[in-house]
Amino acid sequence: MKTIALVAHDGKKAALLEWITQHQRFFANKELIATGTTGKLISAALQQPVRCMASGPLGGDQQIGALIAEQQIDWLIFFWDPLSSQPHDPDVKALIRLAVVWNIPVACNIATADFIIHSSLNHADYQREIPDFKAHNDRLTKPGR
Ligand code: PGA
Repeated sequence: MKTIALVAHDGKKAALLEWITQHQRFFANKELIATGTTGKLISAALQQPVRCMASGPLGGDQQIGALIAEQQIDWLIFFWDPLSSQPHDPDVKALIRLAVVWNIPVACNIATADFIIHSSLNHADYQREIPDFKAHNDRLTKPGR
């Protein structure tokens, strides 16, 4: 079962709720994880359990980032608000960065989220490539240094 992380800034929560409600059947057999407020709203809208982290500005984005680094998240749907500044802007950047580091599909707007859920790869046994960071991890521990 796919595990999908969902985050929406306040200015984008209505858009995410409308979109996810339209695609309720798609999400019915997925495990959902979200930042606190986003998760409560989605759970109420879909009548489906959502594992809620802390609210984003209180560390929820970082908790989801940690789950990505632990290979526990398959996709990230992150509707961040490009028209307002956020108190936790460094966490926002860090979350997007970790999704890229670990090669997780990440949708930051409705159009990309549509492409992800309608992808033919959803019907194939697609395994994303998990990057091999051995060279990075070994960089200062090679004998002779
Ligand atoms: P929230 O956090 O779901 O608790 O509102 C989202 C965010 O701003 O990262």
